[in-house]
Amino acid sequence: MRCVVLCAVLLGGVCAGQDAWREQGLLHLAQSPHARMHPVPVRAARLEAGFWKARQDVTIERSLPTLLELLEQHGVVDNFRRLARADRQPPRRGPLYTDSDLYKWMEAAAWSLQVRPDAKLEAKLDELTDIILAAQEPSGYLNTWFVDERAPLRWQQQTSGHELYCLGHLLQAGIAYYRSTGKRKLLDGGIRFVEYLLRDFGPAPKQPLLTGHPELELALAELYRTSGDRRYLDLAAYLFSGVERERLKLRERDLVYLFSGKPFPERTQLEGHAVRALYASTGAADYVLETGDAAFRRTVLRLWEDLAFRKVYVTGGAGARAAGETFGDAYELPNQQAYSESCAAIAGMIFSQRMLHLTGEARYAELMERALYNGICSGMSSSGTLYCYRNPLAAPASDRIRNPWYDTTCCPPNLQRTFTALGAYFFSTSREGIWVHFYDNAALEWKLESGTPLRLKVKTGMPWHGETEIAVEPGKAEEFTVFLRIPGWSLSTKAEVNGEGISNVKPGEYLAIRRRWRAGDRVRIVFDLTPRRVFANPRVSEDYGKAALQRGPIVYCLEKHDNPDVDVFEVALDGGAPLETEAATGALAGAVLLKTQGLAYEGPLGRRPLYEFQPAVPARRVPLVFVPYFAFHDRGPADFTVWLPCRGCGF
Ligand SMILES: [Zn+2]
Repeated sequence: MRCVVLCAVLLGGVCAGQDAWREQGLLHLAQSPHARMHPVPVRAARLEAGFWKARQDVTIERSLPTLLELLEQHGVVDNFRRLARADRQPPRRGPLYTDSDLYKWMEAAAWSLQVRPDAKLEAKLDELTDIILAAQEPSGYLNTWFVDERAPLRWQQQTSGHELYCLGHLLQAGIAYYRSTGKRKLLDGGIRFVEYLLRDFGPAPKQPLLTGHPELELALAELYRTSGDRRYLDLAAYLFSGVERERLKLRERDLVYLFSGKPFPERTQLEGHAVRALYASTGAADYVLETGDAAFRRTVLRLWEDLAFRKVYVTGGAGARAAGETFGDAYELPNQQAYSESCAAIAGMIFSQRMLHLTGEARYAELMERALYNGICSGMSSSGTLYCYRNPLAAPASDRIRNPWYDTTCCPPNLQRTFTALGAYFFSTSREGIWVHFYDNAALEWKLESGTPLRLKVKTGMPWHGETEIAVEPGKAEEFTVFLRIPGWSLSTKAEVNGEGISNVKPGEYLAIRRRWRAGDRVRIVFDLTPRRVFANPRVSEDYGKAALQRGPIVYCLEKHDNPDVDVFEVALDGGAPLETEAATGALAGAVLLKTQGLAYEGPLGRRPLYEFQPAVPARRVPLVFVPYFAFHDRGPADFTVWLPCRGCGF
C-alpha cells in the first residue's frame, strides 16, 4: 500500500493515520512517482486582502448560500429526499444529471471550510450527506434519475445517462470534505458505489462500462491517491482502454463527441464536447502522474499543444461551437459565437495544472493564468449571484449572458469550487524547494519537503501593480530553491534578494533562486505591466487584422458603458496611439482601465453596401476606454468586444 509512509493505520482503504487528511494537498500528489512537484493543502495557502480574496469572499458569503437556495428551489435536494419516502413525493425535477450539481456545490463548500471554518456550513454538509446517503441502495448504486420506473434503464444509456459523471463528482465532494474535516461518511458512500462497479462491471461476463461524460477518471485517480487502493486507478485505466467500443456498438461520431470509448493513446486532437475532452485529458494526465505511461504521456502532451496552439481563446476559454458545445477545427475561434463554457475554461485550467505538476514547465502555469484571470473570472459576477454559462468575446446588449440559474447548472458550482480552493493553486513544493505560480496577497503556512516549516508572505499589487515582495521564513536556516514564475507577459522583470539584484530574469520561465534561506529574507520583484496589443496567429481568420489589449494577465474589452458615443463594433484601434492606464472608479474601483485613441468608421456601417471595390477606412479620432474582459456585462448588459480592427498595426 502506497500510503503506509504517511499512514499509521489503513482502515477500509482510506489512510487513517493521525490527521493524514490534513496533510493532503488540493491534489494529493505526495506519493505520485511521476510528479515533478506537489500541490499544497487548501488550508496552507490563505489569500489575503486583494483581487482574488474579494472573489473568494463573495463566493463564500453570497454565491454558496444563494446557489444552495436555488438548488433547493429547483428540487435538486428533494430529488434525494423523495427516495427516502414511501410516497416518493415530490416528483423528481430537472435534467438527469442534477445530482452532480449538488455534489459540486458540496465540494466547493467543503474546500471553503479550510479557508474559513464555519460550524453551520459544516452541519449543513453533514445533513446533506445524510440526505444523499439515505438514497443510496444497499448495492452501492446511487442516482436519483434511474430509480423506480426508470430503474430498468440503468446502464442502458451509457453515452448520455451521466451515471458515472455524477459518481465522479460525488467522489470529489467526498474527498474534499474528508480533506477539510477528516469526516469520511460521504467519501465512503462514493467508495461503496465504486465497489459496486468493480463487482459487476468489466470484461465479459461482467457488464460494459463507459464514461459517456468523462469525469470519473480524474476522480478515481484522486481516490487512488487518497486510499492507496490500486484497483481504483485500474478502473480509470479500464475506462481509458476503449474496450467497450464493440460491446456498446459506439459509432465513430460517438467516439469523437464523447471523447471516450476508444483507446486514449489513439487521440490525436481535441474534438467533440469541449468539457468532456478536457476532463478526459485531465484524467489521463493524472494517470501519467501515477504510472508514467509513455503512450499516455505523449498523448496528453499532444492534446495540450493542440489546445494551446490552435484551440484556446485569448481569454483562456475553450469550445468554439455552441452546437453540441464542441471544439471547432484548428484556429476556428469565432468571437461573438464563441461558446467558451465556464466549465471548459476550468477544465482547461485543471488539465494544465496536471501538466505543470508533471513537468515543472512554466508554459502550463501560463495557460492556467490566462484562463483564471479572464475566461474563468468572467464566469461569476462581482455580486456572486450571476453566472456565465457561455463566455463570448463579443456580444450585443441584447444577449443575456449573466443569469442566476441554468437548468443545466454545471458552471456555477464549478466556478465556486475553483474560487474556494484557489489559494492552493498558487504554490507547490518539490524536493528542491517551493514554487510560486501566481501572485496575489497571500500567506503560505506549510513546510519544505525536508520537513522544515516554511512561511511565505506575499505582498503585491497584482494584477494591477507589479511591485511584489515575498517574505521567506523557514523554521530554520536551510538551503533550498524558491522558484518564482516570471510570466511571459512581463518582458522586463526586476528581481532582487535582500536588496541584491538578480540578473538574467527570463519571461516565461521559473526563476530559480537557490541559497541558504533564513527568516527575514525578502525577495522583491517588479513585474512589467506595460499594456500591449495582442495579435492572433494569422490562421485565426476571425482575428486577422485585429488586436486585443492586454496588461499583465488581464485581457481587456471595449464596452459601451464606458464609450457611450461609440459603436464598439464600428471602431478600430490606432496602432500608433499610446496605451495609457487609469484607475477605475465606481463599480470597477480598484481595477486599472486602459485608454487610447481609436478610429471610428464613418457609419453606420449598416448603411454601406455589403461589398465594395474600396475598403472602408476608419478615420475619425475617438477616445476609447477599455475595461477588464472579466467584467463584461457586470454593470448590466451592453455591447462589448475584445478584438478590434487595428489600423497601423502593420498587417
Ligand atoms: Zn458548465
